[in-house]
Amino acid sequence: MVSDQARFTARWARAQAIMKDYRFDLVLVSPSSDFFYLLGQPGHASPRLTLLILPAEGRPALLAGALEMPGYAAWADDLRLLPWRDEENPLDVLRRAFGPVSVSTIGVSDRLWSVFLLRLQDTYRAARWYPATPVLRTLRTVKDEAELATLREASRRADLVWAAFISQPVAGLTERQAVDRLEAWLAEQGMRPAFETSVAAGPNGASPHHTPGDRVIAAGDALVCDFGGVLDGYCSDMTRTVHIGPPSESFKTVYSIVQRAQEAAFRAIRPGVRCEEIDAAARWVIETAGYGPQFIHRTGHGLGIDIHEEPYIVQGNRQPLQPGMVFSDEPGIYLPGQFGVRIEDAVVCTERGGERLNAAPRELTILD
Ligand code: ZN
Ligand code: ZN
Ligand code: ZN
Repeated sequence: MVSDQARFTARWARAQAIMKDYRFDLVLVSPSSDFFYLLGQPGHASPRLTLLILPAEGRPALLAGALEMPGYAAWADDLRLLPWRDEENPLDVLRRAFGPVSVSTIGVSDRLWSVFLLRLQDTYRAARWYPATPVLRTLRTVKDEAELATLREASRRADLVWAAFISQPVAGLTERQAVDRLEAWLAEQGMRPAFETSVAAGPNGASPHHTPGDRVIAAGDALVCDFGGVLDGYCSDMTRTVHIGPPSESFKTVYSIVQRAQEAAFRAIRPGVRCEEIDAAARWVIETAGYGPQFIHRTGHGLGIDIHEEPYIVQGNRQPLQPGMVFSDEPGIYLPGQFGVRIEDAVVCTERGGERLNAAPRELTILD
């Protein structure tokens, strides 16, 4: 626990160093993935205001309802704990702790409820308000070794879920029942779903964010399965497309194009390459094959505490990759009325290039 806490206090120090570059006096972090990143616990987002407060210098503070404070007792040596009672105004407690005048530039985390932000702005009327994103994004996009180990393990377990799924026939199940199977195996791996598990059969697969329903999976269907689990606060995210019974020539062709596009994006990964170049590598394969208009989304998204976070692998994102960035590689082709194909792995940029976090086979799998 002690060394674990040192890991988080080191993150505060790095955040405070970046705050100085941006001239933030305070950064206010509400219960959210940023809060989890900085404290290793999610916090409790509720109408009782909870805030982790980073000053540019000195000890950070935690403002929370007195009844929630026991949950933060382990931090008593590291954080200034600022409990407030229900009959108090938490902002009075905050103002007493940090004073009214020293504060002129305040950063707030993305997911601070507007009801709190409006009251904060009323309390610090002279302050300038900015998103704290630049401070935390810089830290969160580059994963440290402990984070990478957790992400690797979350993806390894997702691979095991997939191996279990394809070991059984699926024809006759509804999409919803197939989802239940995937989620039961996620639970067996000690993970809750990281997002709404998606199974899309036949023409439903042509909608990348299809909501699974009562369609019965049958021979002749392509099946797009997109799922992931959360392990110790970190997400896995993978997609495989299988075919039920013998596939048509056109399905085989489209599948191999997507597989090559996914590989092309993977091979383009190395430090210094811009995110949009990874997207372009996948898109080039699909466009050259004549399916450009049917590749209707970006190639990937960052992956970590949030299922969708920076860096986004999308045209226009000129951010260069750095070792430790983790993101999805998930091109797809969607043919309305027919089928969809998407293949998705989580990948990490290393000094030597890309490393896949998923090892599940990407070759076309035929199921009964
Ligand atoms: Zn998505
Ligand atoms: Zn996915
Ligand atoms: Zn994804």
